[in-house]
This record gives sequence, structure tokens and C-alpha cells, in this order.
Amino acid sequence: MAASGSKGSADFAAARERMVARDISGRGVRDERVLAAMRRVARDAFVPQSLREAAYDDMPLPIGGGQTISQPYIVAFMIEALQLNGGEKVLEIGTGSGYAAAVLAEIAGEVTTVERLRSLADRAAEIFTQLGYQHIRVLHGDGTLGWPEYAPYDAIVVTAGGPQVPEALKQQLALGGRLVIPVGSGQDSQDLVRVTRRSATAFAVEEIGGVRFVPLIGQQGWPTD
Ligand code: SAM
Repeated sequence: MAASGSKGSADFAAARERMVARDISGRGVRDERVLAAMRRVARDAFVPQSLREAAYDDMPLPIGGGQTISQPYIVAFMIEALQLNGGEKVLEIGTGSGYAAAVLAEIAGEVTTVERLRSLADRAAEIFTQLGYQHIRVLHGDGTLGWPEYAPYDAIVVTAGGPQVPEALKQQLALGGRLVIPVGSGQDSQDLVRVTRRSATAFAVEEIGGVRFVPLIGQQGWPTD
């Protein structure tokens, strides 16, 4: 995937390799599919032009609308937690820059990503077209309700922090499907939770780490004001 900017694509590719070695595998992500996907996706294509030099630093960066592109390590950690084997149908809530959806698309068969801010959804869709990602569907709306039209999903990842696990998302998981979501009673920090669907009515819940995300705003998330 070609990268652009004042640095050449070879510089960005080298920076990406270093990032994966130092911040992703170096911090414990072991899933080879995730590591390969992180090596392939040009994060510099998803950050604002003025921040491209920082694209491979392991930190979140502002993308407009008060939102952020997540820290690469957290993107990799959350995708590893989805336990993908390749070819799955995946739903992401919180498209943001589109970066995590692109990483998911390197592994999954089909990615549906939902964003509540139209400007971000439109921008991400443009980047996917430019980069040639044909199996990412970008939708504008309240992702706390999931997207029933394309359910069930083998995996669902929510990249914003909610007050609880939205019931709609649990119901759109396939049997055996995994949902990874930051959940917290305040908006400053959350526990990363993995919910695995065991049967029509049974769900296993694990806490897998502490994270800090922007709020998940919607009918089954935080209120707008
Ligand atoms: N995955 C993104 C990336 O790779 O750049 C980072 C996402 S950013 C941390 C969280 C995003 O969730 C924001 O763009 C925000 O607008 C979005 N969001 C918050 N509540 C939402 C909702 N109910 N439905 C869809 N998107 C939502």
C-alpha cells in the first residue's frame, strides 16, 4: 500500500517495521496475522497531513471532531483479542480515521464499520477507496445499535468506551463470536472486556486490560450531553 507525504514511502515502511518490532511484538502481541496486518497498513495514510511524521509513534493522534486515531499497540491488542483465523465477518463500531478497519480488513473476509460523525465516515471511505480496500463497508449511524442488516458477526470490536456492553451488539454476535469493548462507569478510563457468545442466551465475560478511550455516544452508550 503506497504512503505519501514529505517522507518517502520507504521511510514510512521502515518506521512501520520498527513500530511493529518495538511497540507491538515487543510489548507482547504474538498473533502472526495481527503482526503481518500491522506491517502492511500505512498508518501515515490515516493521520492528518500535519501529523504524518508522528504516524509510527505509539500514541493516539487527533483526527478532527474531537476524536482520535488509537494508539497502534491498543489497535493490535484489541484485534488479537478478537481471535480471528482469517475470513471472518467483522463489525467495528467507531470508524474514526479508518485505520483499525484497514488492519481488520487485512485479516477478515468482510468488515462493516460504523461511525456516528459523518465527516469521519466520509473521509475514511475515501481513504479505503484510494487504498483499494473493497471489502470494507462504511456506515454512518449509531453503532451502539450495531447493524442488524449484516448480522450475525463472528467478531465485533468497539473502539470507544461505553457505560455497559450494548445488548444490541451481544445479540448480533454469531454463536462462538467475540465482542471486544472498553467499558467503564466514568468516561476517563475503562476495562477492556471480551464477551464470547456460548449459546443463544449465554455469554462469557472476561476483563482483559485497562484502556482509555473517547466516549461511545448513542442509545446504548453515553448520552450526547
Ligand atoms: N477505530 C478508530 C481508528 O482506527 O482511527 C479510532 C476510533 S476513535 C478512538 C472512536 C470513534 O468512535 C470516534 O470517531 C467517535 O466518533 C466514534 N463513536 C463514538 N460513539 C459512536 C457510536 N455510537 N457509533 C459509532 N461511532 C461512534
